[in-house]
Amino acid sequence: MKEGKVIPVIRSSMPEFDEYVEMIRPLWESRWLSNMGKNHEELTVKLRDYLKVNELLLFVNGHMALELCLQAMGLTGEVITTPFTFASTTHAIVRNGLKPVFCDIKEDDYTMDPDKIEALITPKTSAIVPVHVYGMPCDVEKIGQIAKKHNLKVIYDAAHAFGVEVNGKGIGSYGDASMYSFHATKVYHSIEGGAIATKDPAIADRLTRLRDFGIRDEEIVDEIGPNAKMNEFCAAMGLLNLVNVDRHIAKRKAVTQRYREQLNGCVKILPAEKTNVRYNYAYFPIVTDHRDKLMEELGKQNIRVRKYFYPLTKDMECYRGQFADQTPVAEHVSSHVLALPIYEEMTIEDVDRVCRAIRQALGE
Ligand SMILES: *Cc1c(COP(=O)(O)O)cnc(C)c1O
Repeated sequence: MKEGKVIPVIRSSMPEFDEYVEMIRPLWESRWLSNMGKNHEELTVKLRDYLKVNELLLFVNGHMALELCLQAMGLTGEVITTPFTFASTTHAIVRNGLKPVFCDIKEDDYTMDPDKIEALITPKTSAIVPVHVYGMPCDVEKIGQIAKKHNLKVIYDAAHAFGVEVNGKGIGSYGDASMYSFHATKVYHSIEGGAIATKDPAIADRLTRLRDFGIRDEEIVDEIGPNAKMNEFCAAMGLLNLVNVDRHIAKRKAVTQRYREQLNGCVKILPAEKTNVRYNYAYFPIVTDHRDKLMEELGKQNIRVRKYFYPLTKDMECYRGQFADQTPVAEHVSSHVLALPIYEEMTIEDVDRVCRAIRQALGE
């Protein structure tokens, strides 16, 4: 028999229902439902300021943003990336006709190991696509130096890293471009949505056209692009969630601190916080030798957890047998990691229930 109310692994933050209704009411008047409407334009400016980035473009979702960004960069040949990520990162590379070359991750924060990048660079390498996984910032300084030395582009998958800052700078201001996801399951969402942040006005200009069928003006279509625009209903949700996001992040911080206190020494957790980083507490992953048993025991108590990320993208069915790249750290983490429940409405009592269940399952 299962015990207790369900603790989901993730629960989307929502504004008040009436607030959303008020926000979308004008759309019944204007009938301007998509194509860079009022909400879209307002959200673009507000997010650019909040995220502390130069240029920001909105998209229908994070995946299309990343896929089109790689296209806009005009990359060729090989792209160095991480297998410890969501399918989207690797798919975006492959769907651009590029070859992913998988670099191993660091043992402490699971981001790309910069010391292993240079050995993977060949004359065909055109870019590096690291992931700020779980919202943990990559070693942006070292990666930037390597890219400069070898004349490579750096495009960050910052899907997890909304609001993260390093040295007071928005995480999206590092590298040539960064992709944010505003999917319903992320720290900040617009139901579905995404963005590219970039310093390069030429890339921003190209992306403006690429996300809208490559249309320059009424008579000139000079790029082969799909439809990847954000609509007004999603932008409305984005505007309302932006008002509350700092409060949401503060709630997640309290959850994270409680987990840290209760689980320290019992399972491996993310490294101690650095003082020069503003975190967003997107996920709380643990690494343990008893992963599958733990998941089963938590399931019995109605506590939902996720093997996030398992399998590695390079081992997914669609890529099976294609990549021989050795990434032993990623292999190990992927087969021992569990993402614990964390969401804005989670209470300290919920956290304590999860921690009790974990200690019980591990016989501590
Ligand atoms: C969510 C996510 C994406 C894709 O974003 P969508 O907005 O869902 O398309 C890409 N990469 C990572 C690491 C993600 O977690």
